[in-house]
Amino acid sequence: KILVVGSMNMDIVTQVERHPIPGETIQGNETRFFIGGKGANQAVAASRSGVSVAMAGGLGVDSFGADIRRGLAEDNIILDYVADQPCMTGLALITVDGAGENNIILSSGANGRYGAEEIDQLDLSGFDVILLQNEISSAVNQRVLDKAAEKHIPVFMNPAPIDGFDRSQLPKVAFLILNEVEAEVLSGVRIEGSSQALEAGKKLLKDGIPHLIITLGSKGSIYMDQSGSQITFPAFSVDAVDTTAAGDTFIGAFAAKYVTGAELHDCLRYATAASALAVAQPGAQSSIPTDDQVQSFLTA
Ligand code: ADP
Repeated sequence: KILVVGSMNMDIVTQVERHPIPGETIQGNETRFFIGGKGANQAVAASRSGVSVAMAGGLGVDSFGADIRRGLAEDNIILDYVADQPCMTGLALITVDGAGENNIILSSGANGRYGAEEIDQLDLSGFDVILLQNEISSAVNQRVLDKAAEKHIPVFMNPAPIDGFDRSQLPKVAFLILNEVEAEVLSGVRIEGSSQALEAGKKLLKDGIPHLIITLGSKGSIYMDQSGSQITFPAFSVDAVDTTAAGDTFIGAFAAKYVTGAELHDCLRYATAASALAVAQPGAQSSIPTDDQVQSFLTA
């Protein structure tokens, strides 16, 4: 059983011909609503991979909060640890212009309000893995890391967005999962492919993290650990139409396979397939594949 402690947003997406300049009012085309946030995306990816997943985090007591509850419940996610907050649900206001360029305004709302004291109320027993990202307060993540350490539950940390990430949390992380940008910021190594990623990984392992994964977009991913094992895993070749949520899909699918006790290589293969399927479809959460889809892709 997986617990995801993290963000949930309503993404409000409007197509525009061009972005407005300051003070200007423009007409948008159809506006659509999507459930998002890295926490929710990773929870959905893990749940669609066929394992039991619970979500912890904050929602506002507004209609978006209710919509998110309904959507996540439809994805079989356990919502007992989702706490109502006396504020707005987290929002992402997104405009996409004719060239596909987007502008995003994040309003953290209930994600920012969700506090470390909520973690004190959580009973972590029964969870095999906990997933964290960096879209909620770092005090909350710290409290989860401390509490998980007491119970010997491994924490998979994806410090995204990397901005404002508290590095002092690294020693308590069991599995650190980074994309190129996050790995560059944490290691100071400029990454162009797997050889630089391995160099960055070596530096990061010195911080004492037991296991590390760096995802490299269409170049796949690398895995390293303290025992010196290294795996370079290529991406599956697909027509990429929308890479939104590729990393979240990879992480959720990886964690789901990991809790089934699968070999590391199989976890990487599964996560690589799931994220390849996600980039081959438009959308974020809507593009996250189910276990059946991943299995048939892998056996095709
Ligand atoms: P993020 O979305 O966090 O930036 P990445 O871009 O590194 O993460 O993508 C995560 C994983 O998704 C990669 O390791 C790879 O397996 C898969 N992926 C991403 N882009 C592609 C692509 N163009 N083709 C195939 N797989 C991809």
